[in-house]
Amino acid sequence: MISTLAIRSLPEGPKAWFAGREEGVCDHASDPDHWKQDRKEGPRHFLDMEPYGGPTNLPRTLEAAQARVGGDYYRHGVVPWIIQDRWRDLTEAFREGDPAKVAFATAILGHYIGDAHVPLHTTENHNGQLTNQKGIHSRWESGLVERHIVTEDLTVLPAQQDATFLARPWEWLVAAHALVPQLLEDDRAADRTTPMAGQDKRRTQAYWLILWASQGPTVKQQLQLAGQHLGNAILSAWIAAGKPAPPSAK
Ligand SMILES: [Zn+2]
Repeated sequence: MISTLAIRSLPEGPKAWFAGREEGVCDHASDPDHWKQDRKEGPRHFLDMEPYGGPTNLPRTLEAAQARVGGDYYRHGVVPWIIQDRWRDLTEAFREGDPAKVAFATAILGHYIGDAHVPLHTTENHNGQLTNQKGIHSRWESGLVERHIVTEDLTVLPAQQDATFLARPWEWLVAAHALVPQLLEDDRAADRTTPMAGQDKRRTQAYWLILWASQGPTVKQQLQLAGQHLGNAILSAWIAAGKPAPPSAK
């Protein structure tokens, strides 16, 4: 959904690179989740804020992160720096002039940008395990989306040029982190009013409807913002690469 929104958000110049490749981008958007057999991959998808004392004073470089928390810095997550690296890959792909590489780099960058908009990717309590709400991670980022959202329900927010794009991931993470307390409270409220069914403590349909009523607007907002921010990333990478035309159009 995020890559579809992003491609639709683009002006004609960069959009031309994706003609006939929209599906290819979507097909690869989940690839990084399948790379997690590599133990270094997991922390690329999140940034825990608690080890740094919360959102107000996050490290901006890996060196600063290491200086603050020592050798454990990697374990606390590195997603903003991975977004920077993958954005540079996309810029390079535009420079090389290879539409297949542009499509793949977009898919991968979009994955990590999406992760940076998920509130539970910004906290040590990433699965509600510290507040007795285990499973909330997938209930929020998969359960609600799969049950209630189709791409056509989402609004395309036009991509904007951003000359300082590389500074943005921290802002997205801080904004997502601010959504954590309400998200957890809404899950608890839905559980209080809808006892779980069966021995495996399945959530009932009523649980999902209540959680959707309270968190649905937030889920949609974060998807739309992630789509726009991936659009900004593509537009800015294309401009940084010198606004190249795709090979077929040359
Ligand atoms: Zn991920």
